[in-house]
Amino acid sequence: MSNPMYSFSDDCSPLSDRERVNLPYYGVDVRPAHERIYDFDEILLPFDEQRARFEAARCIHCPTPAACVTACPVHNDIPTIMCLIEKGNFLEASQTFRLTSTIPEICGRVCPQEKLCQGSCVHNLRNEPVLIGPLEVFVTDYERSVKGSITIRKGAPSGRKVAIVGGGPSGLACAERLINFGHDVTVYDQRPIPGGLLMYGIPGFKLSSKVLMAKLNELQNAGIHFVTNTFIGKDITIDALFNDGFDAVYISVGAGVDAQLNIPGEDLPGVFKGTEFLIRSNVNLDLLPPGMTTRPKIGKRVAVIGGGDTASDCERTSIRLGAQEVFCIYRRTEDEMPGVSKDRTFARQEGTRYLFLTQPIRFIADGNGKLTAMECVRMELGEKDAKGRRSPVPIPDSNFILEIDTAITAVGYYPFPSIGETGLDVTRNGLIAIDSKTGATSRRGIYAGGDAVRGPSLVVEATADGIRAASSIHEYLTKL
Ligand SMILES: Cc1cc2nc3c(=O)[nH]c(=O)nc-3n(C[C@H](O)[C@H](O)[C@H](O)COP(=O)(O)OP(=O)(O)OC[C@H]3O[C@@H](n4cnc5c(N)ncnc54)[C@H](O)[C@@H]3O)c2cc1C
Repeated sequence: MSNPMYSFSDDCSPLSDRERVNLPYYGVDVRPAHERIYDFDEILLPFDEQRARFEAARCIHCPTPAACVTACPVHNDIPTIMCLIEKGNFLEASQTFRLTSTIPEICGRVCPQEKLCQGSCVHNLRNEPVLIGPLEVFVTDYERSVKGSITIRKGAPSGRKVAIVGGGPSGLACAERLINFGHDVTVYDQRPIPGGLLMYGIPGFKLSSKVLMAKLNELQNAGIHFVTNTFIGKDITIDALFNDGFDAVYISVGAGVDAQLNIPGEDLPGVFKGTEFLIRSNVNLDLLPPGMTTRPKIGKRVAVIGGGDTASDCERTSIRLGAQEVFCIYRRTEDEMPGVSKDRTFARQEGTRYLFLTQPIRFIADGNGKLTAMECVRMELGEKDAKGRRSPVPIPDSNFILEIDTAITAVGYYPFPSIGETGLDVTRNGLIAIDSKTGATSRRGIYAGGDAVRGPSLVVEATADGIRAASSIHEYLTKL
């Protein structure tokens, strides 16, 4: 190792206690960092009735189309809902969310509201936005606490059968709306339990699995059939589904394959792929998929490579698993980071340090073949690329060594290769090509949506696709 060792400078220093206390909470009350890093429970502290009514009363009910409604991918009627909450009509408010969204209790918890509804609230011009996300959580949790469970409406039987391939938020949204229309719906998933990244990705400190389990029970009670541990494309083909009597298929297989850095040492013990690391760390042992049945062993100094939400989730999970120092390594600056700043704030509060303009170029093993360090190079920002983002360019002779014993790569995802084998048209990036208005693919009776069509996106966008495709499928089925 002839390159200099990294010594801490301002760009990487942890926050002082004083800074931690002063960091903005985005108006949301969360459990203090020194308490929450010892468990995987949700960090959001729920509103009480008085606080919810006070917060909703801040909405000035902008005329239609209100910017918050336009910015919401499922177009929740936020001004009406705020009016209902202000008056204390919490049940009606929750039901109004459910008119446009199938999983408001989940979106309220995981949506990047700062980029969507709250980000477009008119109050941002002078003040803090109305806290729509926490209010969504409050009223939907209130509804469940009062009713015990939510009854999903079942339409009069149509005699038509639809198969959903992939039980993530997109598939579940499509399934629920198809049941509302009266169709018979079966959801196939390769994992031991449906939910997609809601179960096998997003950690419990953002979304408790209890919330998802309650929703899955309600879907099952409504008559949706779930067939798990079944990989469509291998165990059953799409053609076989049609031969078995299904009249239409919705494909929502996500984009669940971790991208690689493609640098030497990536296969060393101690180097983990982001999603696998999150699954093995967060999911109950009895629900872990085959091949991932043990908890990851992490060391004391962890480097997480990437700048998205997955990176923040891996950092915060590492801290909860006992890592003493956690670094986020990102090749551009914080301004270019794709992840939401709220999650970065929480990661910082919990102890993550950031090394910007830094690119790993190899992982280094000790004499026993164990990860011991990472060689990095400093970057600077060069010309803008096609998307308008300035490209990182290595600075010559700026290499240095960062001593670590665990690395987690969180540098993006691409679609499951199985989707190319269905005979469907795919885009240059391997995503399923669809008609953007209907969700129809190039094969009659097959529709698609979610990350398998968009690439890595958001829970609420995947949900919106499922809802839209269900309407198209219903129209298709009524004309058969
Ligand atoms: C770590 C992580 C954190 C995230 N955090 C957030 C967040 O905080 N907020 C947010 O809005 N978004 C977040 N996202 C993005 C969000 O989770 C996805 O955009 C969303 O889950 C996509 O939904 P989907 O239904 O299209 O796919 P998925 O949720 O990926 O579900 C696809 C399902 O298809 C199944 N499947 C795949 N292939 C087959 C097959 N051949 N046969 C049968 N089943 C199959 C999979 O097992 C899976 O259950 C995060 C993503 C990751 C990876």
